[in-house]
Amino acid sequence: MPNQNEADQIIAAGRQVETITPGTSGNLSCRVGRDGFVITPSGVPYHVLTPDDLVTVSLATETVVAGHRVPSTEWRLHRAIYQARPDVAAIVHVHSFYATLLSTLGRPVKAVHYQLSWVGDEVTVADYATYGTDQLAANAVAALGSSGAVLLKNHGLVTVAGGMEQALAFARDVEWVASLYVKALPLGEPDLLTPAQLQDVRAQFRHYGQPPS
Ligand SMILES: [Zn+2]
Repeated sequence: MPNQNEADQIIAAGRQVETITPGTSGNLSCRVGRDGFVITPSGVPYHVLTPDDLVTVSLATETVVAGHRVPSTEWRLHRAIYQARPDVAAIVHVHSFYATLLSTLGRPVKAVHYQLSWVGDEVTVADYATYGTDQLAANAVAALGSSGAVLLKNHGLVTVAGGMEQALAFARDVEWVASLYVKALPLGEPDLLTPAQLQDVRAQFRHYGQPPS
């Protein structure tokens, strides 16, 4: 069984992502120690997950070091992000409807609302690759850069953060802004917040200590 703290965070987050991703799609992970991450298993519904179902994978050896289940098919994606981004301690991947819809159009999630500011100036789209492959992982890392989220072309959304609660909040934020953007488009091209305006929001957040509601 993985570290109890990270396991509990993943189980709790799983109950929540189940409301925005269909079936058993998507996957969650947390970094553990210097050389590993704990990830959801392949094909187990989130609402029945227990800590015993989670799988710990070594970053260095790419092998399962704890757990009896098969890790999520996207474990390579999680591994590549942890290796590329030392600041990332949690990853959420979902097939949430509006983010995935934009990914099929190859359109980034644009900053039509300041709720995107915590994630980045926009959420870019990684080039398409087959799910579960090293190529998908490489494309995602390249498009993610130093931001908090990336769309996987014709696939879904990935968010990253220093903790699971934040990564989950990013997924909810991106999905909500994506829904706003998609629903605005038939009415006309929505105005976008500028990078300077988004920076002002981040500065306001630092000053007041908590995001506005
Ligand atoms: Zn997926």
